[in-house]
Amino acid sequence: SYINMPFKVHGIPAFQDNYIWLFYLDETGLTFVVDPGESKPVFYFLYKFQLSLNGILVTHHHPDHIGGIDKLLERFSIPVFGTARIKQATKVIADKEIISLSGHTFEVISIPGHTYDHVAYYSVEESILFCGDTLFSSGCGRLFEGTPQQMYASLSLLSALPSSTKIYCGHEYTEANTNFAVMLDPDNETLKKYAKEVRILRASNKTTLPSTIGLEKQINPFLRSNKKSIQEAASSYIKKPNLTTSQTFAAIRKWKDSY
Ligand code: ZN
Ligand code: FE
Repeated sequence: SYINMPFKVHGIPAFQDNYIWLFYLDETGLTFVVDPGESKPVFYFLYKFQLSLNGILVTHHHPDHIGGIDKLLERFSIPVFGTARIKQATKVIADKEIISLSGHTFEVISIPGHTYDHVAYYSVEESILFCGDTLFSSGCGRLFEGTPQQMYASLSLLSALPSSTKIYCGHEYTEANTNFAVMLDPDNETLKKYAKEVRILRASNKTTLPSTIGLEKQINPFLRSNKKSIQEAASSYIKKPNLTTSQTFAAIRKWKDSY
């Protein structure tokens, strides 16, 4: 029986490199998924562990994050948490809203940049963050609908969370991200050690997630745009001296797009 399982998060791989995060709640056995881009692997997981599904949380509207919702709703009559842009949302959420999932609370944090209405879900009690395509391990999402300033502000909100916060992001992009980060920040020993661990994990097809806020602050160049080493690398890339934090962030985001 799944009753009495502790709060547990499972990554269900989807497509090439997405994760659909599924979590159980203490004692109640209630099960939720975040960003079900596909229904099939979710149905399979639920069947394998004899679980039901009690709700869906959505970070943003991209197809690889919502594509499985309709099929899941055909089988389960459950709430869908998302912004007004998510057409299946039954609980339209807004910045700073506290949502209660059977006694467990999550805070909605607006983090525009990847899309203008992207949100994260943060649980203080469990110290976990579901952040979609905004913060990746050693990287960040592309700027489809936001300015570099907006994205940097969003990432700064996330990096202000406690260091122990576990990061569950939408994609397994860590290895490509660390390759880019090591090129930018070659004297960062913590990063180089992490990059090596990541290579080993990925060589045997293991997940690199969750990361933590504390680790990302040490290794993620996009959270380190205020550091001299990153600013100098960005400066040599765009051939302009003395970049501000915001100019540095914009330059390395652009660089990563074509790397
Ligand atoms: Zn996306
Ligand atoms: Fe995505």
